[in-house]
Amino acid sequence: MTEFGFIDYIAKLFAHIPANDFEGIGDDCAILPLEGGESLVFTADLLAEHVHFLRHATSAYEIGRKSLAVNLSDVAAMGVRPIATLLSIALPSDLPKGWAEAFMKGYRSLSEEFSVALIGGDTTRSGSGITVNVTAIGRGPSANIKRRSDARSGDVIFVAGELGASGSGLQDLLAERFDTPQAVAHRNPQPQVTEGIWLGAHREVHAMMDLSDGLASDLRHILRRSKVGAEINTELIPIAEGSDLQTALCGGEDYKLLFTVDPFTADPLIRNFHSHFGTPIYPIGRITEGNELQWLRNGCPMEADWQGFTHF
Ligand code: ADP
Ligand code: MG
Repeated sequence: MTEFGFIDYIAKLFAHIPANDFEGIGDDCAILPLEGGESLVFTADLLAEHVHFLRHATSAYEIGRKSLAVNLSDVAAMGVRPIATLLSIALPSDLPKGWAEAFMKGYRSLSEEFSVALIGGDTTRSGSGITVNVTAIGRGPSANIKRRSDARSGDVIFVAGELGASGSGLQDLLAERFDTPQAVAHRNPQPQVTEGIWLGAHREVHAMMDLSDGLASDLRHILRRSKVGAEINTELIPIAEGSDLQTALCGGEDYKLLFTVDPFTADPLIRNFHSHFGTPIYPIGRITEGNELQWLRNGCPMEADWQGFTHF
């Protein structure tokens, strides 16, 4: 079974149990509407040694930051502010001295940056390997929440940063090149928290998610949940320095926001975003009717079967 086949199986298996007002499985976060026009959102992400990181290639401090970063990215992708996390860690007995303390200092540095409280968790011994699970909670106006299911035919598709640095960095790490700028980017993802909250407050932004498995995989989630198709102009993909198109589309862990925008307000949004953040957002294609994902090169259809990262 594939990762996403298994998630579908889980969702069906539990479909008869009351949702208790939650909008559950299927988006970057689950949503719980509160009284007074606000909602809470919830997400959990797991990092496993040997799968998500290699101990000799990443410092404890960086793993601490990254465990939190990937969760804050999912909250940002909903268009709201992260407010708190729960942290559970399983640590093996062969850890170097000071590893756990350095991990916590990394986790704290990103918590401070975005004023996110650590409100609980669990600590245990592990039989082998480090496992970290973070649950993050966000809060914001219900009207600002962006779902994967809200893309409309004609929308312009945007990414909020360059792609491929993390994927190229992973290739560097696996080749024991630890200090390239791309390897550093892979170990230090920066979640687009402020950008996500800002985009959340803009009604012309329709669907949004964060790019964790690569555009070629993640865009399909928006298409499937919104029941639409897309055309992507591959020559418009912003490729990070030192990377390439294939890695920008299929490499994971860039943690940039992917979103769709009403076509009549796309140009002012580009200008407003740039004047607010000093960095660009990149239009890369448009949402179409139907359910096809079509790659284009200078307007011509391409024969390409790009897929992103999956676990199974
Ligand atoms: P993301 O990459 O944004 O973290 P995932 O692709 O990991 O999202 O998960 C897709 C959806 O499936 C999310 O809504 C997530 O909460 C849900 N999900 C993933 N694994 C499980 C699980 N074991 N049990 C319940 N829900 C899950
Ligand atoms: Mg996500």
